[in-house]
Parts: sequence; C-alpha cells; structure tokens
Amino acid sequence: MAKVKTKQCFYCVNNIPHVDYKDTDILRKFVSSYMKIAPRRRSGLCAWHQRKVAGAIKQARIAGLMAFVPR
Ligand SMILES: [Zn+2]
Repeated sequence: MAKVKTKQCFYCVNNIPHVDYKDTDILRKFVSSYMKIAPRRRSGLCAWHQRKVAGAIKQARIAGLMAFVPR
C-alpha cells in the first residue's frame, strides 16, 4: 500500500487492445515462477487487461503453449 507511483498497464502503454494467447513471451511476464498468474499489484495491469491476460494464459495452457506447472 506504500507504493505511490503505480506502474502503468503494459498493454495500455503499448496500445495493444487485444491480448493474444499466442504471445507467450509477453504472457510469461505475468506469471510467477510457479506459473501462477500474477496478482494485479505485481503485473501492474489495469482491471480490464488483467482479466484478458488471465483468460489468455488459461487459453495458452490449454493450447499447450504454456505449462500448468513449472518443469
Ligand atoms: Zn490496460
């Protein structure tokens, strides 16, 4: 709560309206070392993109692009 300056949403800054589940390089930024989806305070995403990212990560997992558990 002490953090005053909030990081801006990666997707809003880069003007990416849609989160592509095939962009695993980007999605990887938003998962922890245990392949868990990062909470918003860590990812710095806006509420809208956080939801999109969470959905994209789940989609990527099902498509076999990302792991469910770390290797
Ligand atoms: Zn955003």
